[in-house]
Amino acid sequence: MPRGVVPRQPARTGRQDRVARALPSASSGRALPAKTAERRKNAAHGISRGSSTRQSKPAPKGRKKTAAVVKASRGARGYNPIAPERVAEILKRLDQLYPDVTCALTHSSAWELLVATILSAQSTDVNVNRVTPELFRKYPTVEAFAALTPEQLEPDVRSTGFFRNKSKSVVGAAKKIVSDFGGQVPDDMEKLLTLPGVARKTANVVLGSWFRKAEGVVVDTHVQRISRRLELTTESDPQKIEQDLMRVIPRDKWILFAHQIIWHGRKLCLARKPKCADCPLGNLCHAEDKTWSTVEMHKGAKG
Ligand code: SF4
Repeated sequence: MPRGVVPRQPARTGRQDRVARALPSASSGRALPAKTAERRKNAAHGISRGSSTRQSKPAPKGRKKTAAVVKASRGARGYNPIAPERVAEILKRLDQLYPDVTCALTHSSAWELLVATILSAQSTDVNVNRVTPELFRKYPTVEAFAALTPEQLEPDVRSTGFFRNKSKSVVGAAKKIVSDFGGQVPDDMEKLLTLPGVARKTANVVLGSWFRKAEGVVVDTHVQRISRRLELTTESDPQKIEQDLMRVIPRDKWILFAHQIIWHGRKLCLARKPKCADCPLGNLCHAEDKTWSTVEMHKGAKG
């Protein structure tokens, strides 16, 4: 051997000595290397290359969006964002991240939850939770609210914003609950929707979080944004998003899924600067507005 030429040595890790497990190829019957077979299987199920339950590595400072934005990715060959396997993997990781999350609005009855949910529109849960303890001490029953005029309630809910409309809705709902439903908040979607200020989001919160009835999926601003980023829907209208989610998410997960996504939206998947480098959904997420990615980003998949 000529001087200076060093014979090839096995790696200390032993990686190059490992024999790839072979899987049979569906079409030819020939064995495929394990990695190739796995990659093909994941592509068919809409799971990205490199998919695993591992957390993404933190982004090195000053580097952003290393992966290319792919145009018209939804038609990309073999990729189906709502493939049951991909959705199941998203749900599994959400379960690991947020195992026991519940509604963040403080309440001790269906009525209190209804009022808190009405007040939470265009406001934060923290803000609402600052107001409601004193509110429910001052007016402890639905009848006490029904005896008010909206103007009387306004000063008590002013700090939650849009206080005139919210006062009208709360007092109107209280009056209707007393006159039509014997003072009890109905546990029925159709009846709830007859209350002033109550649309599907509010009704779903009350039905899911208090009555434990899965009649739909709560679509608030976080669910709207993140389900689009995760390509579970392409819609922007909350009702259409809800319909899409009801098709894609198993019914027994509807209530928990909404809570988990709302928490995810508060902790990691923020509206302006999502913390993608810390997000365990990273390699399943192809959002166009990711702040860090090791997978392709898909044009149009954004909140
Ligand atoms: S946008 Fe970022 S934070 Fe949000 S789900 Fe995707 S990877 Fe996670």
